[in-house]
Amino acid sequence: MWAGDHDMERAVKELAQVLPEPLRALARIAYDYRWSWSKDGAAMFEAIDPPRWARTGHNPRRLLTETHPTLLASAAANSDFVGWVSRIAAELAADRARPVAPGALTAAHPVAFCCSEFGVHGSLPIYSGGLGILAGDILKEASDLALPLVGVGLMYRTGYFHQRIDVTGYQYEYWLDADPERLPCVRVTGADGRPVTVSVPMDDENVAVQIWRVDVGRVPLYLLDTDLAQNSQVGRWVTSRLYESSRAIRLAQYAVLGMGGVRALRALGIAPAVYHLNEGHSALGVFELMCQARAEGWADDPWRRVREQVVFTTHTPVPAGNETYQRSEVLGMLGRMADLVGDREQFLAMGRIDPGNPNQPMGMGALALRASRHANGVSRRHGAVARAMWQPLFPGRAVADVPITHVTNGVHIPTWLQGPMRELLDRHLGEGWLTRADQSATWAPIQDIPAGELWAARCNARRQLVDMITRRATSDRLRRGDSLDYAAAPNSGFDPDRITIGFARRLATYKRLHLVALLPERALGLIGGKNPVQFVFAGKAHPDDTAAKEVVRQVFALKRAPSVSGRAAFLEDYDIPLAGHLVAGCDVWINVPRPPNEASGTSGMKSCLGGGLQVSVLDGWWAEAFDGSNGWAINGDVDPDLSEAAQDLRDARALFDLLEQSVVPLFHERDAQGVPQGWVAMMRRSLMTHGPRFSATRMVREYTDLIYMPD
Ligand SMILES: *Cc1c(COP(=O)(O)O)cnc(C)c1O
Repeated sequence: MWAGDHDMERAVKELAQVLPEPLRALARIAYDYRWSWSKDGAAMFEAIDPPRWARTGHNPRRLLTETHPTLLASAAANSDFVGWVSRIAAELAADRARPVAPGALTAAHPVAFCCSEFGVHGSLPIYSGGLGILAGDILKEASDLALPLVGVGLMYRTGYFHQRIDVTGYQYEYWLDADPERLPCVRVTGADGRPVTVSVPMDDENVAVQIWRVDVGRVPLYLLDTDLAQNSQVGRWVTSRLYESSRAIRLAQYAVLGMGGVRALRALGIAPAVYHLNEGHSALGVFELMCQARAEGWADDPWRRVREQVVFTTHTPVPAGNETYQRSEVLGMLGRMADLVGDREQFLAMGRIDPGNPNQPMGMGALALRASRHANGVSRRHGAVARAMWQPLFPGRAVADVPITHVTNGVHIPTWLQGPMRELLDRHLGEGWLTRADQSATWAPIQDIPAGELWAARCNARRQLVDMITRRATSDRLRRGDSLDYAAAPNSGFDPDRITIGFARRLATYKRLHLVALLPERALGLIGGKNPVQFVFAGKAHPDDTAAKEVVRQVFALKRAPSVSGRAAFLEDYDIPLAGHLVAGCDVWINVPRPPNEASGTSGMKSCLGGGLQVSVLDGWWAEAFDGSNGWAINGDVDPDLSEAAQDLRDARALFDLLEQSVVPLFHERDAQGVPQGWVAMMRRSLMTHGPRFSATRMVREYTDLIYMPD
């Protein structure tokens, strides 16, 4: 049904040939990430060869080709295991066989969801953080809802960087090659058996682009790749790194993703009803759509035709986040693209706030807004912030009338609800509850789960996390060259019964990890107090963000203080698998962005699913989620009379006040059975109020009803 079907079929057959006959069905499962959100899909692959599964980064294609034949043979001889494979295979086949959801979108005219990154799974290294993980969750949810949708992105050959921290807390970066020939993906070929390629003009080269396909359930994700021998070295480098530092290369990436994306879909025979530009990186595609419209006879007003097809989601609440480019930069890389469109001035003007001002730079956000029929922010507050920020693009309109609405983010529950809490909710919420996850009634039975049972699930989840923390913290420290005593401290120091507080996110300075280190005596007081807490941190700073790297150092400066070595850990290389462990296991999730800079934030939503409670600034999603009884809030107002430093101090005090006076005492207030009734009551409120509202099911339904539907 989708371009590349025959390539998938061939790859599945080839992989099946190396497997013992009873295990052949594994080949198809391996080539569709649907297994990763099947309840026990990962466990099935792991059971074949646990160490190999870990070593391959949970990549099933590599597992099946690298596992020793004797292990495959013993799995094939195990009838229970063969039954397991058949069950998962049948589940996937049934999922694929469902008809497309009724509505205006059809398989012939799907949504094309375009994004610079996709966080589908840890084994597919083409994501860096929240934007990508949201995109991955949208693909998965679209699959679950049988919504006709295809993804368009880039196949980064070395992806995002990996992180190492040295003994002083300084961050180093390194990149690893991701070999697409070993990933569960296929190169898309045409009827002649040769790879389908499209060409994108950049600088003085027409760069050839090939197309990979990754299956995310029913949704094909097409990934564009310029690493072809016929391109120049620079051309080949374009799709090498995610968020590449060179501005010229970034422009080239936008050309591949935008113009290349639209051309690729046409070459693949896909005629989208809607192009969803998820953030501005793919906005150059609108020029290609304009050329198409002109060729199709819309010569009078081709932009009207473009606007009918395009919708845009902005994720950036600060002007600085919406990168702009000077005329010389744009024309240097994209001059020939501008010539294709027609007039260079018009090309530049489409991306200016004031099209008539030739001195203004060009930005992808302005271009995307101008060319789309619907635009949205990603939380209620962010919608308002975006309307104010983009008002100059709509002269004559009041801020309230700026045509940007909001669709608050959500998270894909089958992906992020893991471990003991998943088992608990599966037991209590009824057959098929995940398909009704956006309804409050689905979550209502949580009210009746005995407190002891909820608490036991929470404690089991924390125990699994503490086990992971001690292993990882110790190996991180050994590699860093810390003393053996220091490296071993988490083993005796981290306690599976102690309140565990997590802070893990991209270390942009606005996320304010430094608040934790701003009042060191209070942080140390919590760690060493009568009712001690334990902290776990993780996050990457962008390689060029020296200020953010300095913050990691500030946190590391506390490491020699008493008790810290065994009750606080910074885990390196924050990624999807690490995030999965942290959000499932932490009791408390801290979120202290500098308002109003957090567009939404999704890690807190994941933490809620694990029974974690939020301590968050009232910004992003929390400003609409907090109701006084389902977590804790820190003032999110922006006080124009306070300096940034003064506001940081105010918010750090508020954070520690809450932790000392409310959070820690509530955790320790136990009944005769040792259950903290007040804490469990808040867990219930959190799950029941946040679960339905911040599910990707609710989010994708809103995109379908409010954004994709024609007016
Ligand atoms: C969910 C997630 C994010 C986004 O978290 P925020 O709350 O937006 O900071 C970033 N990185 C990873 C690995 C995630 O899983």
